[in-house]
Amino acid sequence: MDIYSDIKYIKGVGPKMAENLNMCGIFNVLDILLYFPRDYENVSVHKSILECVESENVIIECNVLNILKDVRLKNNKTLSTIVFSQGENKFKGKWFNQKYAKNSFKVSNNYIITGKVNKFKEEITIMNPKIVKNTSMDSNKIIAKYPLKNNITNNFFNKIISGVLSDINITESLPLWIVDKYGFCSLEDAVRNIHSPKSSELLDESRRRLKFQELFTYSLKILMLKEFIKFHNDGIQFKIAPELTLLKDQLPFELTRAQSRVVREILIDQKRDKGMNRLLQGDVGSGKTIVAIITMFNVVKNGYQTSMMAPTEILAKQHYAEIQNVLKDFPLNIKLLSGSTSAKNKQLIKDELKNGTIDIIIGTHALIEDNVEFKNLGMVVTDEQHRFGVSQRNRFSNKGKNIDILVMTATPIPRTLSLYLYGDLDVSIIDELPPGRQKIDTSYENMSSSDHVYDFALNEINKGRQVYIVCPLVEENEDMKLSSVEMLYEKLKKEQFKDTNIAMIYGKMPSKLKNEVMDKFKDGEIKVLVSTTVIEVGVNVPNATVMIIENSERFGLAQLHQLRGRVGRGKYKSYCILLAKITNNIVRKRLEVLIKSNDGFYIAEEDLKTRGAGELFGIRQSGESGLILADVICDIDILKLANNEAKNLIQSNNSEDVVVKNDIIEKIKKSSNYICFN
Ligand code: ADP
Ligand code: MG
Repeated sequence: MDIYSDIKYIKGVGPKMAENLNMCGIFNVLDILLYFPRDYENVSVHKSILECVESENVIIECNVLNILKDVRLKNNKTLSTIVFSQGENKFKGKWFNQKYAKNSFKVSNNYIITGKVNKFKEEITIMNPKIVKNTSMDSNKIIAKYPLKNNITNNFFNKIISGVLSDINITESLPLWIVDKYGFCSLEDAVRNIHSPKSSELLDESRRRLKFQELFTYSLKILMLKEFIKFHNDGIQFKIAPELTLLKDQLPFELTRAQSRVVREILIDQKRDKGMNRLLQGDVGSGKTIVAIITMFNVVKNGYQTSMMAPTEILAKQHYAEIQNVLKDFPLNIKLLSGSTSAKNKQLIKDELKNGTIDIIIGTHALIEDNVEFKNLGMVVTDEQHRFGVSQRNRFSNKGKNIDILVMTATPIPRTLSLYLYGDLDVSIIDELPPGRQKIDTSYENMSSSDHVYDFALNEINKGRQVYIVCPLVEENEDMKLSSVEMLYEKLKKEQFKDTNIAMIYGKMPSKLKNEVMDKFKDGEIKVLVSTTVIEVGVNVPNATVMIIENSERFGLAQLHQLRGRVGRGKYKSYCILLAKITNNIVRKRLEVLIKSNDGFYIAEEDLKTRGAGELFGIRQSGESGLILADVICDIDILKLANNEAKNLIQSNNSEDVVVKNDIIEKIKKSSNYICFN
């Protein structure tokens, strides 16, 4: 077996299971090794039941004394009970609604079992005991908990992965001097211990090393792009099209000074014979889209095609509407391509892109599919790029020769961080909002006062306004059938908002349904939208005036600021209410940053200062950055080190380093993730 072996050849994986794994994006051994646990459970091994502590997960040896008859409880649940003994001591094992669980036990037999301890007065119970086989009783254990999807159980992942680990050799892939310098464990140990940690210290060591490795590769990729750009950067020399003046005269508003400055910076890039690689940063609502439209228009008037990619379908549609509106007096062929474009239309659009009939294409990541070809692409714009990561940046720019690249982001990235994340790009900043914007009234409330917050929202609805309610994304786990957004929606629909038109929207919903809901919200038919952060970026509904964020202590400040930017977009006074479990002063202080300031850059700097990694464990912020373990914000210290070492390696002429460098570069090219083992 090697890391590219198909998972269907792994022992214990049948054809059906292989299919399920495929649906989780797991196709070969490498994929499964990179399927990291989302959390861990500590399990204590105890010799005697008397050592067990309330709520602890334990492993313990025992004998079956008696198997009792099932009891039907008042709440209609069935209770099954076994009495276990350990010498003189007795304790019970209990299951609710699992009639068959007890059948694996036989009276008088010895077992090693695991479960959670429940102590009531003198009586000890192990809840949902399971038999453990082949375990040593000499030390406490840390059990990996995997993100569960498609009916695959945690036990299955643990079994399959431990099988793979016992069968595979993993060779070191970092330069040895780096491993030595930082005292990292070997790659092999890191991979073993992240899946089945021998101790919490070894787990920490593994995480540190793998995060470093990921950010090192990430940095190398950015630096390589930068190098590449330096040497292969012939660009198209665009002219300043005379029609630009015409367009400026008929814009729906006057540009702010910052917008004009940034348009100028981009036009200067376009005129040069070098390619443009520019990052456009601007707070939510600062008006980046119009900047993109004006500069794309210039490229089109030079006879080239341009394209704009948005991270979600909702945004792509919105950009499409805006661009059509702004450019309505110019006879241009502008099209929208996204996941929900019909196959027939898609083909038509692809043909028109290839033969050059389309001037401007707006779309989602459907645009970077391999079979989308352009006749003469001159410039690409990617909106809210922080969701895409460098590799997409790279792939998208490969669609044409020497094209100009404009990356737009509304996440104000502190300068320190942006150097590491966007070191390959020049930066333009819009640091001014269009005139007449109202300040959004921001406050925080304890979760326990949510009822009066909902009442306030109802009051706004009665005035004709609309409301967003955002929940954090909680990964599904064994105990929870519904995601938090579904649960909240069901509750609000039955209770506080029972007479209101309320709907929900979340990432995994079919995009057709998502669009329908979004359209109805835009039209004002839906009054309350319960949502995950899919509405985070860019969505524009001027009639919405209330943003309620549930469990806001779970979000980063920058993200809360983004969410707040969804309201205050029209002529009405707007409100952002942060519901939080305010358990300590740190939470309070963080939320106060948002009340004090409306400056995205300031907020981002504060975010970087106050966001403890521990607080965020288990909540994936980087999501679509392509990083699996590291979080560029929480792990900025590792990122700095990794970036430094990546620079050292790139610049080194030492013959050994050159060999390592070329080797890594080959690996990066072949690999879609940043933790390359191959
Ligand atoms: P973002 O930078 O967050 O992408 P948008 O480009 O969506 O912001 O702009 C937010 C809103 O502000 C849009 O409705 C847009 O039409 C409007 N807008 C942009 N620039 C100006 C301006 N100079 N004056 C007035 N309104 C503007
Ligand atoms: Mg935008």
